[in-house]
Amino acid sequence: MSLARTLILKASDSTWLREHGTRVPFIRRAVSRFMPGEEFDDMIGAARTLAGSGIAAVYTRLGENVHDRAEADAVAAHYLDSIARVRALGLRCEPSIKLTQLGLDIDPEFAFRHSLALARAASDAGSYFWVDMEQSPYVDLTLDCVRRLRMEVPHVGVCLQAYLLRTGQDLADLQSRGIGVRLVKGAYKEPPSVAYPNKADVDAQYFALAQRMVSAEGRAQASRAVFGTHDLALITRIRDAAAAGSVAPTAYEFHLLYGIQRAEQQRLAREGATVRVLIAYGSYWFPWYMRRLAERPANAWFVVKSLFS
Ligand SMILES: Cc1cc2nc3c(=O)[nH]c(=O)nc-3n(C[C@H](O)[C@H](O)[C@H](O)COP(=O)(O)OP(=O)(O)OC[C@H]3O[C@@H](n4cnc5c(N)ncnc54)[C@H](O)[C@@H]3O)c2cc1C
Repeated sequence: MSLARTLILKASDSTWLREHGTRVPFIRRAVSRFMPGEEFDDMIGAARTLAGSGIAAVYTRLGENVHDRAEADAVAAHYLDSIARVRALGLRCEPSIKLTQLGLDIDPEFAFRHSLALARAASDAGSYFWVDMEQSPYVDLTLDCVRRLRMEVPHVGVCLQAYLLRTGQDLADLQSRGIGVRLVKGAYKEPPSVAYPNKADVDAQYFALAQRMVSAEGRAQASRAVFGTHDLALITRIRDAAAAGSVAPTAYEFHLLYGIQRAEQQRLAREGATVRVLIAYGSYWFPWYMRRLAERPANAWFVVKSLFS
């Protein structure tokens, strides 16, 4: 892991920086590159624009590690309302939640009950329900929760991180249960005891897992196959592997983050790939934004430049 990435990820945990940084105008301007605004309606506006190009959306209200039950209740209420509003608008927008925002740190059972209510509401609205993956100590709790959700609702998926050594086994288990998988490289700082420290190894494991997901055998398991990446070389290799196995482009998807590789999002959609964009909104954006900076430390330069714009 590069020094810049390590330092930025460390800063993402700083309460002082979160409380002070989020008020600084030039940082707020820089963040707007990655999110259309803090309100749900900002997300809806962006989703409408993307829909015009044939690109559907996934949405998430930023927040994590909620330690107060009333706050977690309010997050769940917000998502219930959002699912109803998206349904009424007829938009192709799927929710993606973080279990620690629904109270996982307080009590896993409490978070499960909230996520079950949301997964049922999404299912009734004809929508898929996605669960993000957080730091490695949460992986077992998250996967347990998702397996239980799958027993109650048919359309549930979870993010798996290719940097974790364990992900090959987790993928096989989820596929066998018909649980959707959004494969990403992984955004947190993890020790070498659980995660590949070198990017080349992460990229290699990503492609090996992706090949399993787009193989004829993988597709027969009816588990939704999603690749959450902006790595254009990897995207090309995945499309080529699928084509070589005669797997249709409609049988798997690419999900990218709002504001990253915008031109490529449009190009992929024009070429017939199934593309969704994950749109984040909300006021608790600091740790999430720092992870975006850590993914590409050159982004810090945009922050500095925005000081002068
Ligand atoms: C839809 C989606 C959902 C995600 N959900 C999770 C999750 O639940 N848990 C989790 O741990 N991680 C999640 N991530 C983040 C993921 O783990 C990676 O940190 C992130 O996607 C960067 O990796 P990459 O695959 O794009 O490849 P990289 O090799 O990091 O990047 C490839 C290229 O993409 C561009 N790029 C990548 N990131 C940025 C950026 N921030 N700004 C500008 N350009 C960039 C650059 O051109 C870079 O060279 C998600 C990512 C996506 C797209």
